[in-house]
Amino acid sequence: MHYVSTRATSASAARNPQLFSDILLGGLAPDGGLYLPTEYPQVTGAELDAWRKLSYAELAYEILRKFATDIPDAALKALTARTYTPEVYRNARAGESAAEITPLRVLEEGERGTLVLQALSNGPTLAFKDMAMQLLGNLFEYALAKNNDELNIFGATSGDTGSAAEYAMRGKRGVRVFMLSPHKKMSAFQTAQMFSLQDPNIFNIAVEGVFDDCQDLVKAVSNDLSFKARHKIGTVNSINWARVVAQVVYYFRGYLAATTANSQKVSFTVPSGNFGNICAGHIARMMGLPIDKLVAATNENDVLDEFFRTGVYRVRKSSETFHTSSPSMDISKASNFERFIYELVGRDADRTHDLFRKVETHGGFDLSGAPGSDGDEHQDVGKFGFQSGRSTHADRLATIRDVAGKYGIVIDTHTADGVKVAREHMQPGVPMIVLETALAAKFNETIVEALGKDADRPAGFENIEALPQRFVVMPPDVDRMKAYISEHTGL
Ligand SMILES: *Cc1c(COP(=O)(O)O)cnc(C)c1O
Repeated sequence: MHYVSTRATSASAARNPQLFSDILLGGLAPDGGLYLPTEYPQVTGAELDAWRKLSYAELAYEILRKFATDIPDAALKALTARTYTPEVYRNARAGESAAEITPLRVLEEGERGTLVLQALSNGPTLAFKDMAMQLLGNLFEYALAKNNDELNIFGATSGDTGSAAEYAMRGKRGVRVFMLSPHKKMSAFQTAQMFSLQDPNIFNIAVEGVFDDCQDLVKAVSNDLSFKARHKIGTVNSINWARVVAQVVYYFRGYLAATTANSQKVSFTVPSGNFGNICAGHIARMMGLPIDKLVAATNENDVLDEFFRTGVYRVRKSSETFHTSSPSMDISKASNFERFIYELVGRDADRTHDLFRKVETHGGFDLSGAPGSDGDEHQDVGKFGFQSGRSTHADRLATIRDVAGKYGIVIDTHTADGVKVAREHMQPGVPMIVLETALAAKFNETIVEALGKDADRPAGFENIEALPQRFVVMPPDVDRMKAYISEHTGL
């Protein structure tokens, strides 16, 4: 299995075919594109039948070995077995089985169809990013040990990504994490999750500024290529291919758990921001998993909903980006979207390159087919099963109240966006699975607003804000940041 960039010319793609391990520790391809396999591995009906009996870890192994063909089977089997255990995904709710890893719960079975929740947030940081990041931690440790190498992960976070990365990398040999966050801007719960980690390979840096200042620092340091190389700096942002592919597994799992025969179909609704999660669903569908619809649910930051409705992709300025009560979906552009557009334009890397150049120069592109537009491929979106919808703060409050009242469970704000949009796309005979992307305890302020009481906290999180915290405060100063990294890497 080889990988090419979405912007590679056919000549450069043939010259530089990459293996899974080659792209594991990197981010963007050198030409600015994103990596994808040269073709999607296909899944047969016989395989799906056999997979119905597997544990989550065994299923993850079967799917990943189709993509990571350069990692020996025995190593991959050990890595997946260590990653997907009930001890790691122990925050299952009452009535859910932790051994299922991503348990399904039927909310509604009626004339309008069946509405199901798939819990992806039972890992250590209570958000779905653990599903991929936990595997990444083990894959990194394996790859670094093999090459006797080390890696310093440098990133910025406003919440979920940073804590998922730290919990995945804590204690891993050869890996250090330097994570920037805006000083005193995260919720008390999210701050405590990150800063209470005492592992010596985790460095929390609270930057005196806002999230954009943190991101600018990451860019400034990463743009110094010689510093980056000398200090072995890498990233774990949502465009990382291994993260995307690890997420493919739970679409198979959800399908297999919701059906009894391969003639049946299901649809998924995915609370979406950077298009990483739903991109994995698209890949599962391309592999032959019988997915009917993939519904992207956005909040007020509706870049993706606008594209799927109209064919116009228009990135937002930071002044146009809303701070919402589903903050992990507050994006101005969708960093994984290029992986789908590449497919939509028939895997034409030159077209993809031109379209995303236009995003940089003109803030977007238009595939509606209207006079003067950049193409008419929007008409093909349906072939890939995509639909979309949008949800607002008022919708979130109403949906949290409704789900708590009718089914007795408290969902988080992002999942509420998903349920609201899913209900607009249900069909009799095709179960609609909503991916639960976080547990409510993480976004308690809005739960209190909706229900007038606190969300339940899983065991072990009761007094997290009172734990001792380990972090440094720093001004947004590139030279100070570099000096701090040099000092703590010894490189
Ligand atoms: C990251 C995140 C999302 C958005 O996922 P994408 O892969 O960026 O589309 C949705 N909900 C929660 C809780 C998240 O942490």
